[in-house]
Amino acid sequence: MSFSPESKEETRVSRRTLLQWAVAAPAALALSRVAFEMPFAQAAPAGPFKLPPLPYAYGSLAPTISEMTMRIHHDKHHQTYVDKLNAAVVATPSLAGKTPQTLIQNLAAVPESVRTAVRNNAGGHVNHTMYWEIMSPNGGGAPTGDIAEVIKSSFGSFDNFKAKFNEAGEKRFGSGWVWLVADKGEFKIVSTPNQDNPLITGQFPIMGNDVWEHAYYLTYQNKRAAYLKAWWNVVNWNAINSRLRYYKNQNAGAG
Ligand code: MN
Repeated sequence: MSFSPESKEETRVSRRTLLQWAVAAPAALALSRVAFEMPFAQAAPAGPFKLPPLPYAYGSLAPTISEMTMRIHHDKHHQTYVDKLNAAVVATPSLAGKTPQTLIQNLAAVPESVRTAVRNNAGGHVNHTMYWEIMSPNGGGAPTGDIAEVIKSSFGSFDNFKAKFNEAGEKRFGSGWVWLVADKGEFKIVSTPNQDNPLITGQFPIMGNDVWEHAYYLTYQNKRAAYLKAWWNVVNWNAINSRLRYYKNQNAGAG
């Protein structure tokens, strides 16, 4: 699944590129090794992370989320998190090759000089990558599959789950996210400030909604509650079931 795709893709590309160089021009390979050992700040300006393309057309979630909101949110806001994460990683060789999930799960291991930048921007990158994936023009309706069972057993009914989720999203003061997380086998609704991802505190995000004003203001203005209520029309339960399966597989046999 596409839970932590970017760095793997990058690794494949760079291996292939190196192989081509090895065959065609050993001198170029030697040069590239020298370049690779240089401090990252002096290497190529592009960092290791890329903005994933939106998996559907920008206007296809309208009227729930407008095309303009999607264009600005994806192309500007998410791109900025990616760019700032890359800048932090480029400046910090010890962070090279790590997935954004690994970075936020181990913030204590991130040098203090870039810890806040990594927290905010790796968080922003992970959060938004999930957000695009768990929405769909064909979304909405009642939950299906395993997530339907989780919602029923943990919250009694889908209506009750939605009400609790929306309430937590409304109550988040300022900017942040509302989540359904798995926490040591229990399923809970939580909210986080800024771009904090539940992985920071060892919880796994099954699904989440962005309650920053940039996610809804062009259409809903100050009415965050209306956005939270409408958002269920585009929720992609198939993608959420994939995340739930990923969590269960990761934790299978862990007790
Ligand atoms: Mn956002």
